[in-house]
Amino acid sequence: MFRTLNEITSNGFCMGCGLCTGLVPDVGMDETEDGMMIAVAKRALTGAEHSLITRLCPGVSLTAPVRDSDDPVWGTPLRVAEGWSGDPDERFRASAGGVMTAINRYLLESGRADFILQVRAGGKDAMSSEPVFIRDPADLLDGSQSRYAPCAPLTALHAALDTGERFAVSLKPCDIAGVENLRREDSRVSRQVVFTQAMFCGTVPSRDSSNELFRRRGIDPDTDTPLSFRWRGNGCPGPTVAEMPDGRTVTATYNELWNDNPWTTSFRCKICPDAVGLHTDLATGDFWENAEPLGESPGENGIIAHTPLAREILQACEAEGRLVLRDIPIDDLNKTQPHHQRLRQSWAARVAGANVAGAPMPDFRNLSAAVGQVSTDAQAATFQGALERARKAAITGCQPFDDWGSGGT
Ligand SMILES: Cc1cc2nc3c(=O)[nH]c(=O)nc-3n(C[C@H](O)[C@H](O)[C@H](O)COP(=O)(O)OP(=O)(O)OC[C@H]3O[C@@H](n4cnc5c(N)ncnc54)[C@H](O)[C@@H]3O)c2cc1C
Repeated sequence: MFRTLNEITSNGFCMGCGLCTGLVPDVGMDETEDGMMIAVAKRALTGAEHSLITRLCPGVSLTAPVRDSDDPVWGTPLRVAEGWSGDPDERFRASAGGVMTAINRYLLESGRADFILQVRAGGKDAMSSEPVFIRDPADLLDGSQSRYAPCAPLTALHAALDTGERFAVSLKPCDIAGVENLRREDSRVSRQVVFTQAMFCGTVPSRDSSNELFRRRGIDPDTDTPLSFRWRGNGCPGPTVAEMPDGRTVTATYNELWNDNPWTTSFRCKICPDAVGLHTDLATGDFWENAEPLGESPGENGIIAHTPLAREILQACEAEGRLVLRDIPIDDLNKTQPHHQRLRQSWAARVAGANVAGAPMPDFRNLSAAVGQVSTDAQAATFQGALERARKAAITGCQPFDDWGSGGT
């Protein structure tokens, strides 16, 4: 078990969500040299402070709300659909089909939420993102799109609770898991958080991964930094576009970005037991066969409603023309998100391999239902691959974005 904040960060289990900064004074977030967010204590913490952090940190403590009758990979499937925003501009400008933004718009315009806690571009440079409270529906699209670089949205969670207002949270699965962990010890979460949604999250790439695009174009990202950067949107997936101070525009396709970049990420992302948002009211992602776009499309999402509230909100959005929905079999999520199916089946063997190599064991409960879908031989191969990899290389710092010791899974 993890006993201190340092054990979390030094073993590669910090995902950089920022929850701990609101739990304990003098814990802050820093960016590592290779461009990941990591929690840092600015003084020696007490035993009680370490205990609070390790209890609530979603990097090392997660209990999924999955029942026996649920889908082993995707959790509770109260409604599974393909869909997109009924507003063509929203659909075009958002990351996929604009489903997350359309739902956030409904929550604000119906008065069900006073604001949305999400992220948008901002901070030290064009690739940085910052948490934001969006109150005016006109500002929602500023915070849409996929920001494929680290940011720490839960640094704002306690400030959001301090407002005393009702809000929805629209972030990554691990961020929502942090909100759910806090719910256990802070009763304001149940009173004020009215809805949670997340995208299926393949990983949070390091900032250095995107910088590689500039190096391939002969630009030194340390000295020649863009004024603005968007990874996708304005189509689906839409172009990656950087605007440079001298008026140049650097562009790339989504496929170049994902296939040609040497992506790196945190160890914790590579063993994530819930990158599909089991903890959310609603989770959503792209809807491309085999997770790869074959060109540009108008924008579509795969959607799973986990709670009666999410099902009711989908229905309301559909009735008002805010969302266009078509029910689909749950296997379509496996077909469009095969990497998530593999990760849900293999994470436990990866964690066990890292544990035998010396990392503490995280407190992950009720998350393993999909593990039994693969043979014990495949699990053993994954375990062995993870063990060898962890023995050879430190699991702290950025890890290459390959199938880390995934053996036969
Ligand atoms: C880190 C990351 C990993 C992803 N991995 C997958 C994947 O494995 N499979 C897949 O199908 N799709 C993945 N996506 C893309 C995802 O499909 C789309 O973002 C999602 O379908 C929502 O589309 P939308 O049009 O409904 O979103 P939009 O309407 O554009 O809204 C996007 C929402 O996501 C939030 N958001 C964006 N970036 C971040 C971030 N870095 N941290 C926290 N919140 C953020 C925004 O604040 C906004 O609320 C990923 C996106 C990100 C940012």
